[in-house]
Amino acid sequence: MSWDHIIGQLRQKDMLRRAIRQGRLPNAYLFTGPEGTGKEATAIEVAKVLNCDAADALISAAACGVCTSCEKFATLSHPNIEILFPVEKILLEQPGETGKDRDKHDEALERLKSLYAEKCRNPYFTMRMDKSMGILTSQVEALLEKSLYKPAGGKRRVFLISQAERLGGDAANKLLKLLEEPPSYVLFILVSSQPEKLLPTIVSRCQPVRFAALAAEQMLEVLTEKFGDTVDASQLSFNARFARGSFSQALKLSETGAGDEPHTPQKLRDEALELLRNALASGRAFELMRRIEDAAKRDRPRESQSGLLAAMLVVFEDVISVQAAGVAARITNADQREVIERFAKNFPDGDFETAARETEQTIYRIAHNASPLLAFIALALNLRRLLRPQ
Ligand SMILES: [Zn+2]
Repeated sequence: MSWDHIIGQLRQKDMLRRAIRQGRLPNAYLFTGPEGTGKEATAIEVAKVLNCDAADALISAAACGVCTSCEKFATLSHPNIEILFPVEKILLEQPGETGKDRDKHDEALERLKSLYAEKCRNPYFTMRMDKSMGILTSQVEALLEKSLYKPAGGKRRVFLISQAERLGGDAANKLLKLLEEPPSYVLFILVSSQPEKLLPTIVSRCQPVRFAALAAEQMLEVLTEKFGDTVDASQLSFNARFARGSFSQALKLSETGAGDEPHTPQKLRDEALELLRNALASGRAFELMRRIEDAAKRDRPRESQSGLLAAMLVVFEDVISVQAAGVAARITNADQREVIERFAKNFPDGDFETAARETEQTIYRIAHNASPLLAFIALALNLRRLLRPQ
């Protein structure tokens, strides 16, 4: 990794590098912006520069990439970087030597290790544990403990707090105390795609840096470099658009390929089209309900449910493009051009813009624990009303 591997975000990178060169870093940053736009990758790069052994690292605000410190950053094993994210509670407990708890603890530890391995490989990856309850008080307490000691090598210690919106009340208050009297040798970087959920008192202690959603073209360039030999160009172009500004999503789609898995983007898209057809046709209530039940199934991962909705959103965006630009329109679902054009033609009075917004809202609701079944039913009714005005 180096600055070059962080896609786009030129203004943000410039600003951070200037602050490093001038030695005017704040005590705490808050990186906000959509998921997968490089917030954490950038935070790690900042930490790497601040700890690089090269004589001109701070003057040029660039890490050499080859010194011992940089090597340790490549494996995220440097003592001056600490990543806090919501982990499973069992990891913070002292298990016995043997027994069931010990096994569970070891399994969780394995999961943690594989998350770190993935993070080293791909700094755009967000580390998540399904069974976590948020960032816990004891995690912040451990951070407090660490903040008492000067960093190794006389450099700067960086505390990266991923998914900061998941700080629990008590944990947030403890962190606030730390931010109120921050040791000069610690740089806090809080990262959040939902900063509105943070305590205002925490936000006010941090200098904000807002990351922008990435343009499909920017992502496509990097995807082509990485996968150009193995994945065909039209698939990469689809992935770049389907990812909707998130490079981590675009990477994931390109790595899994078109394959036979049930939740590939094209399969989700086909499912979205079917759902849409049934929602808009007359006398198809039974079939529609069956499809909604399928979409909202209890054992279906939420990620796949939002994927289905994201696919629907991309269909709407394509219809909007076709309605605006006709045959010249550049669309994501190029392989379904006829279907998209038919939608545009059959629903000339449809409010596809609002339909897209409603779909986006539904993605948000499902991600925030709304009942998927109710959310899908409400969306289907709304779509019918918006796209088939009487
Ligand atoms: Zn270095």
